[in-house]
Amino acid sequence: MPPPRAILTYHSLDPSGAVTSLAPATFRRQMDFLAETATPVLPLSKLLHSDRGLALTFDDGYRNLLHHAVPLLAQRQLPATFFINSAAAHAGGPFLDWSALREAAAAGVEIGAHGIEHLDLACVPLPQAIAQLDGCRRAIEDRLGVAVRTCAYPFGRSTPQLREWARTAFHLTCGTRLRYLRANDDTADLPRLDVYYLRNVAWFRRVHRPSGRAYLQFRALLREARTRWSVAP
Ligand SMILES: [Zn+2]
Repeated sequence: MPPPRAILTYHSLDPSGAVTSLAPATFRRQMDFLAETATPVLPLSKLLHSDRGLALTFDDGYRNLLHHAVPLLAQRQLPATFFINSAAAHAGGPFLDWSALREAAAAGVEIGAHGIEHLDLACVPLPQAIAQLDGCRRAIEDRLGVAVRTCAYPFGRSTPQLREWARTAFHLTCGTRLRYLRANDDTADLPRLDVYYLRNVAWFRRVHRPSGRAYLQFRALLREARTRWSVAP
């Protein structure tokens, strides 16, 4: 079995216990574990050309990342990508506004597109779906002066036509299929491991071990079955 490569998905770092939240103390323990074990943590684009390692991604651009993720990642020199919605960045509130995003980018965080709003792009006409991702990219480039090369579909949802466009528009685009990377994965719909399934530190420590892989495969099957039969999670 080849050594695993995986993209991890985080959302909010807060102690609420919501499905999209991870407690900041747990996040710190996870990052300590990666540092102690010298696990290779790579920028997203480099992971694709590496034979092992992890990449860290954070969806939706929650404001708490500025306090609970940015300094910790910078201290440990861990690369990460924040996928943000440009309308949320204009609004601020619970989300990182442009000034906070500038701070995160200055600390080394890559900022990627996640749509103008957080729409299900498989349920809107193709031109609107493209305008959502392209508009977000342009807003980030205008406000932060950095090139946007990465993207993530809201809810991980896309269509074959949108993926065809994304393949030419971005270096890579992430979905939410729960699995490790494989050699010939579509760069317009990369699978990721949602940290919701790794919030137990014992499981997080096994992310690179066969037992961890078996556990995540099992969780992916359960998730697929729930989706197929529309049974509430
Ligand atoms: Zn999202």
